[in-house]
Amino acid sequence: MDVKLFIEDLKGRFPNEPEYLQAVEEVVNSIADVYSQYPAFERVNLLERLCIPDRIYTFRVSWVDDSGRVRNNMGYRVQHNNAIGPYKGGIRFHSSVNLSILKFLAFEQTFKNSLTTLAMGGAKGGSDFSPKGKSDMEIMRFCQAFVNELYRHIGPETDVPAGDIGVGGREVGYMFGWYKKMTREFTGTFTGKGLDFGGSLIRPEATGYGNVYFLQNMLATRGIDLKGKRVAISGSGNVALYTAQKLLSLGAQIISFSDSDGSIVAPEGITQEQFEEIFDLKTLYRGRISEFAEKHPDVCTYYPRERPWKHVGKVDIAMPSATQNEVDGDDARALLAAGCFAVSEGANMPSTPEAIAEFQKARILYAPGKAANAGGVSVSGLEMAQNAQMLRWTAEEVDNRLRQIMADIHTQCVEHGTEADGYINYVRGANTAGFLKVARAMMAQGVV
Ligand code: NDP
Repeated sequence: MDVKLFIEDLKGRFPNEPEYLQAVEEVVNSIADVYSQYPAFERVNLLERLCIPDRIYTFRVSWVDDSGRVRNNMGYRVQHNNAIGPYKGGIRFHSSVNLSILKFLAFEQTFKNSLTTLAMGGAKGGSDFSPKGKSDMEIMRFCQAFVNELYRHIGPETDVPAGDIGVGGREVGYMFGWYKKMTREFTGTFTGKGLDFGGSLIRPEATGYGNVYFLQNMLATRGIDLKGKRVAISGSGNVALYTAQKLLSLGAQIISFSDSDGSIVAPEGITQEQFEEIFDLKTLYRGRISEFAEKHPDVCTYYPRERPWKHVGKVDIAMPSATQNEVDGDDARALLAAGCFAVSEGANMPSTPEAIAEFQKARILYAPGKAANAGGVSVSGLEMAQNAQMLRWTAEEVDNRLRQIMADIHTQCVEHGTEADGYINYVRGANTAGFLKVARAMMAQGVV
């Protein structure tokens, strides 16, 4: 297969979708060798069918703000591939949302879900609606209007949405409520639900905890312990906060957080008490990370409009947990110069291709989001399993399963990504393992 020609063709067909093309290019480059070993794949044009989503719903979402004004946003659902299970993937509410971003996320989700060992296809949805500064009632009206368009296309065995940036327990609750009203069914169609109506214990924590479990597996390949390590985190949302919580419990030091306005860097690390203050600030009060810096100028420095990477000083590990393309080539070089020897991605595609090349050239441990952050969707899969059985598992049981799934994902990466010199190329490993399962299922099901 001619990878260059394949990518050029996709670029010609989808010229205004840079994030989607970036994600496809990374995967196709790393699976090209394996793909070529199976001529039967090429005979049914499998790769093209796997890269282009099965279908996309696009709709206008009209809602009324608190002043009585009618506002319009765009809504989308990208159903990428359901070869191995019902479509599954989060919903993102952020002003930056567009079709390119959702197509890249749905594409990535397909490989990630395949890696989890559970039966879930890939999807993603969202809107350019920004929840920032909106009242609770405005959020509710928006969620209802969004689901009013979406509810026909989703279902417990069709497509199961969840949260992502800007969509947490509150938004999932409102969307689930309206879905229930429109369908007159109580089913596990959304995951990330509240504990009182079908949610799973450990789901809020799952992405962050899972990323730390994956990191521990990576560190174990080099006999390194997390205790005392200096970890730079970006973001201060769901993924960042639970990553930090688990790291602190394991004796690591947290030296940074960020949000879309700027970053804080605490050279001596953040104490448990200070972390709890940040947790409350972000979750209970929906505040800005700068507010913590204003209150604690002795603990940290605030860098407005800056990402943390160039400011963290000596650092062992980086866990980008905010958004795509938030670590560029310069950031990667700065991290490496500061001593970083492991990067485990909480966000989806946070590192640019140039940054990934730098990490791999330096032979550091580098785990792409589709492997390292798969804990979130894994526990969503466990939530679906519990809903189907009308049961609730204990926190311990879910956490143990999460640990096992992350260990299994790591094993798949090692199996498919170990190079001749022993270096584990987690990108190649994750993409190949994720791809092969979906490809085999697609072959078995014919051209559909
Ligand atoms: P949240 O909305 O809870 O938090 C997102 C954080 O990232 C916030 O601190 C936000 O700052 C910051 N952020 C968002 N957009 C930007 C931007 N353009 N530039 C700088 N900072 C930004 O989302 P999550 O924590 O759930 O998601 C974070 C990442 O993890 C995303 O890439 C998501 O796709 C990925 N992920 C999430 C999973 C989950 O279970 N939630 C599962 C797997 C992956 P601000 O508050 O200023 O917007």
